[in-house]
Amino acid sequence: ISACQHSTIPASNVHPDVHFNKIFISNEWHDAVSKKTFPTINPATGEVVCQVAEGDKADVEKAVKAAKDAFKLGSPWRRMDASHRGLDAAYLAVIVYNDRCAIHSELRTLFFSVGCWLVCRYYAGWADKWEGKTIPIDGDYFCYTRHEPIGVCGQIIPWNFPLLMQAWKLGPALATGNTVVMKVAEQTPLTALYVASLIKEVGFPAGVVNIIPGMGPTAGAAIASHMDVDKVAFTGSTEVGHLILKASSSSNLKKITLELGGKSPNIILSDAKMEEAVEQSHFALFFNRGQCCCAGSRTFVQESIYDEFVERSVERAKKRIVGDPFDLNMEQGPQVDEEQFQKILGYISSGKRDGAKLMCGGEAAADRGYFIQPTIFRDVKDDMTIAREEIFGPVMQILKFRSLEEVIERANAVAVFTQNIDKAHYISNGLRAGTVWINCYDVFGAQAPFGGYKSSGIGRELGEYGLDNYTEVKTVTIKVPQKNS
Ligand code: NAD
Repeated sequence: ISACQHSTIPASNVHPDVHFNKIFISNEWHDAVSKKTFPTINPATGEVVCQVAEGDKADVEKAVKAAKDAFKLGSPWRRMDASHRGLDAAYLAVIVYNDRCAIHSELRTLFFSVGCWLVCRYYAGWADKWEGKTIPIDGDYFCYTRHEPIGVCGQIIPWNFPLLMQAWKLGPALATGNTVVMKVAEQTPLTALYVASLIKEVGFPAGVVNIIPGMGPTAGAAIASHMDVDKVAFTGSTEVGHLILKASSSSNLKKITLELGGKSPNIILSDAKMEEAVEQSHFALFFNRGQCCCAGSRTFVQESIYDEFVERSVERAKKRIVGDPFDLNMEQGPQVDEEQFQKILGYISSGKRDGAKLMCGGEAAADRGYFIQPTIFRDVKDDMTIAREEIFGPVMQILKFRSLEEVIERANAVAVFTQNIDKAHYISNGLRAGTVWINCYDVFGAQAPFGGYKSSGIGRELGEYGLDNYTEVKTVTIKVPQKNS
């Protein structure tokens, strides 16, 4: 993978043929049981790209049965060596990577997304290294633990990073020997289905991975409440996170991990390197059109540098290149769909109504498609809606603070910009947040865990910690005639 990692992508095909638009169960393509389909829309134009099979409860039934069968004792998947599982997962990462041009041109995903499949390769390496322990318990016993797969894992993923979310979910699940029923977001089904075609090519046994395009309240809810699904990993809104937990509690108490939203603060102290802080804070908010659960969406700037920081941030935002997502020079494409587009414009109106000062942007950026101008508000107060709710769009809120204590109290941040390492540690240790970046933002590694405190989620993804969420620990205790130390 590393050898081809930095090679360039050829020009994209802007009129792609779509090859995979059905439900993937047992390594075969299926129409929906209901025969229903739904349109997938190009957000740059508002035009329909193609129709996609719309899975619902009946299709979830079929997929769960396939996943359960693939997980049966003695099945090819259960009998497979862990090292072989790892090789399959690594091969999947490689062929997704090798097909990046096709994925890019066919499905308008950005280059970096394909690189995210390195997460799958990372987990592939864990497959034969995720060891149990032998435990010196009291008495004449031999005691050891096994790390066993949980079983059938439901995975419900969102639209903001379709490929990345798929890799984060499939990598650890497959490395640890689970089977999967994945419901992909209705806004972005095509990338996941393309990857499904590669899963078949790798040769995973039938039923190990099943992928269903469909709607949340039907297909998603059917997974969350299914009695034969042993675990659900969900990424998306906090609202749906609540529904997933409720569905688990009223069905079989399946294990749940949640990666939800936030309103992440980014703190700029007066001694920060101004240029870096402005650029990184711009990236923290505008990256992926603001559609990130960890977007730095409350930028707290210390009083003495506030005006200069706002001025420079506005200059930077005005230079941001908005346009054709096929153009590799473009910095900002369209929002994912009409609903998000309208929602963001609504938040911009609420910011103006509440008295925040609009410094740039504030409107649609084109006469068709779902483009929004990079927008900045200053004089934002903690109680304004734009400072409290997740906008999930290219709208930056810049707030002012005086002291470190005040900002810790108000913010509970994910990022701090300062040249003073003592202040950086003081703030970092005082925060109730799952991730803290110091003098940087959005730095992810397959090796380092990611997840949220409080209502931002349950559990961690990535790194060794991510394996816990896909494993049951079995303690085996054996009577022995006589123990010796
Ligand atoms: P969502 O939570 O509704 O959708 C995420 C996934 O959950 C999709 O696959 C969806 O089909 C599924 N889903 C929806 N309802 C479900 C249900 N009742 N049962 C099971 N699955 C269900 O998110 P959205 O409506 O696409 O976006 C709304 C807001 O959520 C956004 O504006 C943003 O604030 C937030 N969001 C956060 C993330 C994140 O990465 N944390 C991702 C997407 C959206």
